[in-house]
Amino acid sequence: MNQFLQQDIKFLGGVGPKRAELFYKELQIHTFEELLSYYPYKYVDRSRIYSISEIDTTLSHIQLRGKITAFEKEGKAPKERLTANFVDGTGMVKLVFFQGQKFVQSNIKIGTEYILLGKPSVFNGQINFVHPELDEANKNDGGISSLLQPFYNTTEKLKSNYIISKSIQKFVSLLWQNIQETIPETMPDAILQKANLLPLHDALFNIHFPQSHELLKKAQYRLKFEELFFIQLDLLYQKNIRLSHIDGLLFHTSGEYLNTFYKQYLPFPLTEAQKRVIKEIRRDLGSGKQMNRLLQGDVGSGKTLVALMTMLMAAANGYQSALMVPTEILAHQHFKNFQTLLLKIDVNVGLLTGSSTKSARKKIHEQLINGSLHILIGTHALLEAVVQFKNLGLVVIDEQHRFGVAQRAKLWQKNAQPPHILVMTATPIPRTLAMTVYSDLDVSVIDELPPGRKPIQTIHFYDSKRLAMFGFLRRQLEAGRQVYVVYPLIKESENLDLKYLEDGYEAFAREFPAPNYNISVVHGKLKNEDKVFSMQQFVSGKAQIMIATTVIEVGVDVPNASLMVIESAERFGLSQLHQLRGRVGRGVDQSYCILMTSYKLSNEGRKRIEAMVNSNDGFELAELDLKLRGPGDLDGTQQSGLAFDLKIANIVKDGQILQYARDIAIEILTNDPSLSFESNQILKINLQRSKEHSVNWSVIS
Ligand code: ADP
Ligand code: MG
Repeated sequence: MNQFLQQDIKFLGGVGPKRAELFYKELQIHTFEELLSYYPYKYVDRSRIYSISEIDTTLSHIQLRGKITAFEKEGKAPKERLTANFVDGTGMVKLVFFQGQKFVQSNIKIGTEYILLGKPSVFNGQINFVHPELDEANKNDGGISSLLQPFYNTTEKLKSNYIISKSIQKFVSLLWQNIQETIPETMPDAILQKANLLPLHDALFNIHFPQSHELLKKAQYRLKFEELFFIQLDLLYQKNIRLSHIDGLLFHTSGEYLNTFYKQYLPFPLTEAQKRVIKEIRRDLGSGKQMNRLLQGDVGSGKTLVALMTMLMAAANGYQSALMVPTEILAHQHFKNFQTLLLKIDVNVGLLTGSSTKSARKKIHEQLINGSLHILIGTHALLEAVVQFKNLGLVVIDEQHRFGVAQRAKLWQKNAQPPHILVMTATPIPRTLAMTVYSDLDVSVIDELPPGRKPIQTIHFYDSKRLAMFGFLRRQLEAGRQVYVVYPLIKESENLDLKYLEDGYEAFAREFPAPNYNISVVHGKLKNEDKVFSMQQFVSGKAQIMIATTVIEVGVDVPNASLMVIESAERFGLSQLHQLRGRVGRGVDQSYCILMTSYKLSNEGRKRIEAMVNSNDGFELAELDLKLRGPGDLDGTQQSGLAFDLKIANIVKDGQILQYARDIAIEILTNDPSLSFESNQILKINLQRSKEHSVNWSVIS
């Protein structure tokens, strides 16, 4: 049975090697089994047939039963179209075909009774159906009948090779008719009963050929549950293994360095949230288990200081620490910041980036190996094989969403015994998402901003209000404040966008000319040293205006900056806008964010802008972002390799099923942590199988 389903799709009747190739490439369907788990995206009820006289053009897809009386060619190329009159005894509608006119005319017979499926619309006072589906009324195509007709996603390429939704339906039907035995269950009886789930066989049948609305609902529930359940089981199972098999480095004490720093050199009192998080971390480090902790905190909440203090604990216990950040600018900033804060403390800090000189590198490498360097700050350069530590005890990853899974895993391996891991993010991860993707991590949250911060005021201007924006900007500059202007350079290679930034620069330079004003420019195409120099100009206050791309999105900290202007703001995602805005509002004075957009805003674009104007809360915005864009697009999840290739469940809409599936997974693992019970063998086997088909969810740090 299993072997039957493992067969190559090309062996299915009517598919053959050429179409099989398309199935592989376009839909990643290779086997019979994969075809069975290619689920329809919608269903149309085919039980009801309307008569033409009762058509209401606000209806979505409906069915009619009738005949074509005549074809006609209308219009001139390229708008030439084939039309047909379709009658059913109660009236007439017009059918319109732009594509495949020849095919329609030679295959659809005049005078034969057809069942039509399509969406009615009105054109020139007449009811039209554009590209309706037509099936001969009295012909049985031999397929499996169902109450609801499934619709399958196809691609342009498939369509141009005549593989449409209907064809996929036919293939699935043919496959099902060839299945001789019941499809084996993947869940133990106990779970099926407890969660009231359809057997897999019945669920698969009804997802493709729904026999009733109720069975379709049950089939969807079963398959969503299964998908989410195995992800949860996997994550929690991995966590058990980590906790029971990997000994964590034991940090006996929080140590003198931290003590001295805290008592004498802390520049300001910690917020309550910072204190709480440091305690949580301290508990992990002293537990003998490996820490694997995610630190979430909105932009400006003071995560860096927490990282620094954690690193001091490591140093006091004789261990080295590494802090990895996504950009060179950020690495420099952290380095300078750490140097200043640790000036009077006997801990050595080093910097390693792509542009470190050969001799500087050599020195760092030596100091790492002989143990004289306690803290290393850097970019991807830290991952290189030549970077070896004497005893790496702690890895901190800043702005973790910028790194891929594999990159982070490399840092793990730089010590024989895995170091403690702290990943920090200012991209708030909505609860449902955190539960799905990060359930192997413990989570700490800094839910409080340092005192005295005023909420940033966000204003939306259409491009026509450019002068008002300049005026606003001038007033900030006159008050001695600094200003960021950001352009949407989405891909660094888009020359077109770069020109956009350069044009913008010229306009600003005209409006705010030297020598009264100094403008610095930062974008990804600059050489590293130029980037660092420009940034330094702004940090030191020598430049008042910084014109940049999103390279400044992460981490840059200039408290005197009070205005963020975002050009073409509609081109950014919500989380990204929030990240950018977080560059201001770091001092005690009122800060502002101006979102410039064109008049032409999509519905979604408008919602994003409105949300930004109305909310300063990163979590709220992230939830909304998830709703607007869907999880696959969520900032960071793509880059981090956590592709959301969920087949049927939706982590936004199916949050309740997720929670339930998680509870059941926890219950099972509590009783049988290594899944060794006889009754759980089925889970162990299918856990393995489900992993072969998906990304590795658990290795995030
Ligand atoms: P993020 O969490 O975005 O990385 P940072 O660590 O860059 O935030 O901190 C933002 C700013 O707040 C920095 O200028 C930092 O010095 C300051 N800061 C951090 N903690 C406190 C505190 N407890 N009180 C006042 N200012 C703080
Ligand atoms: Mg930061």
